[in-house]
Amino acid sequence: MLEGKLALLEAALVQLEAGFKDLPEFTAEQDFDAVGAVLEEVALRLQDNYPYAHPLYAGQMIKPPHPVARLAYSLALAINPNNHALDGGRASSQMEKEAVAALAGMFGWQTHLGHLCSGGTMANLEALWVAGSLHPGKTILASEQAHYTHARLCGVLGLPFETIASDSQLRMDIEVLEQRLQRGDVGTVVATVGTTIAGSVDPVDQILELQTRYGFRLHADAAYGGYFTLIDGLEPSTRAAYDGLSRVDSIAIDPHKHGLQPYGCGCILFADPAVGRLYAHESPYTYFTSPALHLGEISLECSRPGAAAVALWATQRLLPLTRGGAFAAQLGKSRQAALGLYEKLQQDGRFVPLLAPELDIVLWVYHSEWASRTSYLSKEIFRAAATEQLHLALARVPTKRLQPLLPHLEADDDHVLCLRSCLMKPEHLDWLERIWQALDRATIQVFTLSGRLDR
Ligand SMILES: *Cc1c(COP(=O)(O)O)cnc(C)c1O
Repeated sequence: MLEGKLALLEAALVQLEAGFKDLPEFTAEQDFDAVGAVLEEVALRLQDNYPYAHPLYAGQMIKPPHPVARLAYSLALAINPNNHALDGGRASSQMEKEAVAALAGMFGWQTHLGHLCSGGTMANLEALWVAGSLHPGKTILASEQAHYTHARLCGVLGLPFETIASDSQLRMDIEVLEQRLQRGDVGTVVATVGTTIAGSVDPVDQILELQTRYGFRLHADAAYGGYFTLIDGLEPSTRAAYDGLSRVDSIAIDPHKHGLQPYGCGCILFADPAVGRLYAHESPYTYFTSPALHLGEISLECSRPGAAAVALWATQRLLPLTRGGAFAAQLGKSRQAALGLYEKLQQDGRFVPLLAPELDIVLWVYHSEWASRTSYLSKEIFRAAATEQLHLALARVPTKRLQPLLPHLEADDDHVLCLRSCLMKPEHLDWLERIWQALDRATIQVFTLSGRLDR
């Protein structure tokens, strides 16, 4: 994607170096012939990968970083700033504050405290750590469809953790949540805004209503789905959940998932800047709202890549986080692609889609009467699709979630492997027909090449 565009980086590097031209001449000795040889070897090694950037890669949550992010990141490496302290990177720290403020603004927040981190895991760790510090010993609740990281992080933090059943749409079941809240001792509820498996959005608006009655912290894990707040045309219930994000206590969002960033870019946002006092080692918390904030004073991680902040800032400069803007239009295309695939699956008698996609993830199975055979067919179609150059993913879903859709399904296994596709690239919309044809060929392949399989 950058072939022929590296001249842009070269020009920017010259511009950057001009800022340091008063220094005495200095060039570090390097043997670039040896570097070139190693790079070629690396390129060969890296061929052992799925073609993540291609539209026929429609499997896991992987989206190529935007060229501006790649170039800005590389440019920043000439400095290699460390956003732990201002001494390690003044400009990139300021860019991080601006980029993070734009993310907070996307959710309608006027004030916030936040920073970038290595990813959704770290962002959720900080949110749960703050939650546990404010409500020591109290239980953290998340839906059974929440990312498994929450159970593990609560283990790390020594906090009690329980799951709440999800409904047929794989959203947190609000009635089950209320029954649990009535029993008391709940400190924090984690709402997942875009589950990793299906992109389902927990009803943040309804959970906020329960918050007024039961008083708990509400953390939104929007690592995957956060950016979809920018798009028009969400289902009304999904839109209501997103609109509720302006009133939650904290949000985790991953710019390295849908924000066009290289890996190593998550973000945690707190609505109340006063939680900064929990990070303090010496200073009173008022220090943390001062303009000369060192980001290391409000982050659990110490050294962090300033280049990640530079890449995010550059991306948001090119593609601002505005509703109806070019970036929102790209996300809208991903959702359209998912709705298109869902429709095709629904109309084709061979397949059963599990649920209408709220965002851009589609889950489906091949029609079959046994849970174990359904799993087997998913694996076979997954394999055959790869031979057709279509790369899908597999996901384990409790059999009881499929039974309302497939009333004759024999539960000879408690989980079913489903086919899963994250249609994260806007190009997936233009490629939908080709994706469908590859899936069709793969399915036919499974039933014709292997004599053992009958319909
Ligand atoms: C991906 C994801 C995480 C984990 O984030 P990493 O960036 O992989 O550490 C947590 N929660 C949700 C909902 C996710 O989709």
